[in-house]
Amino acid sequence: MAHILDGRQMAREIEQEVRVQVDQFLQQTGVKPCLAAVLVGSDPASEVYVRNKQKACQRVGIDSQLHRLEVSISTTELSALVAQLNADSQVHGILIQLPLPDQIAETAILDRVHPLKDVDAFNPDNVGRLVQGRPRFLPCTPHGVQQMLHRAGVEVAGKQVVVVGRSDIVGKPLALLLMQRDSTCGPTAANASVTICHSRSSDLATITRTADVLIAAIGRPAEIRADMVKTGAAVVDVGINRTESGLVGDVDFDGVKEVAGHISPVPGGVGPLTISMLLHNTLSAARLQHVEP
Ligand code: NAP
Repeated sequence: MAHILDGRQMAREIEQEVRVQVDQFLQQTGVKPCLAAVLVGSDPASEVYVRNKQKACQRVGIDSQLHRLEVSISTTELSALVAQLNADSQVHGILIQLPLPDQIAETAILDRVHPLKDVDAFNPDNVGRLVQGRPRFLPCTPHGVQQMLHRAGVEVAGKQVVVVGRSDIVGKPLALLLMQRDSTCGPTAANASVTICHSRSSDLATITRTADVLIAAIGRPAEIRADMVKTGAAVVDVGINRTESGLVGDVDFDGVKEVAGHISPVPGGVGPLTISMLLHNTLSAARLQHVEP
């Protein structure tokens, strides 16, 4: 029976660490970090995500703003708000809640977020820095996965890691993070041999069975089954799928937990850590923008 990777508990630990650091930063500079969230329309899931992020900011002493916009807004109007937030010295981090409505040029909007305020690390400047192994901000969900493994004592250095999913938000940056020479948690949380799989990978199960660490970021319920997992592997489930029986991940939890050495649940796994790493990035952004008077 696998050891459960308790994302909620780890998130509480990280929040405590960030709260102490936010307090120290405030004492030293008189500046309270501030995150501005932009929510277009009223998608119920996005509403919940934004509310949870705001509550988390409050818990650690970070100010937050919510900018609500009509679902019919144009790319030009949204760009104008991003420009305004870029220029506002009171705002340190900008979060554009995705997905945006179809009429909005999403990439164009994300590209306009100032690289020093880009706490999601979606701007090409920050992506490029990650590729080169000199990141400014680490993308929140991949960083959350790395923290989860590190805090559970699962070292990835020299191990075979398989990431299923190649999105710009999760799979691709996660693979980059784990294959680097070093990380914020030291070299044992990096230096993995990483394989990336996707919907065109043939014989997925043969590849996933090679994994010491298997990470699912697919967006399809129960796509990873017990017969796809090596005995004793650490399995991290990034997926969040809304089904009739509630929120489920990409991993068949009940089956895989009998085979794996470690497994993260959904909910209560990677999700809470994603929010923790957003708080961490907002503090980093405030530090980067602070100029001594
Ligand atoms: P995405 O952009 O839709 O990417 C999904 C990836 O999975 C794609 O690379 C796709 O391959 C691949 N894929 C789809 N079906 C597959 C299959 N049958 N076999 C192998 N690969 C397959 O999704 P995402 O943004 O990366 O998100 C992935 C999941 O994580 C979603 O459930 C999302 O809700 C969740 N998520 C959770 C958090 C969190 O905080 N926990 C954060 C972000 C996302 P192709 O590239 O070939 O299409």
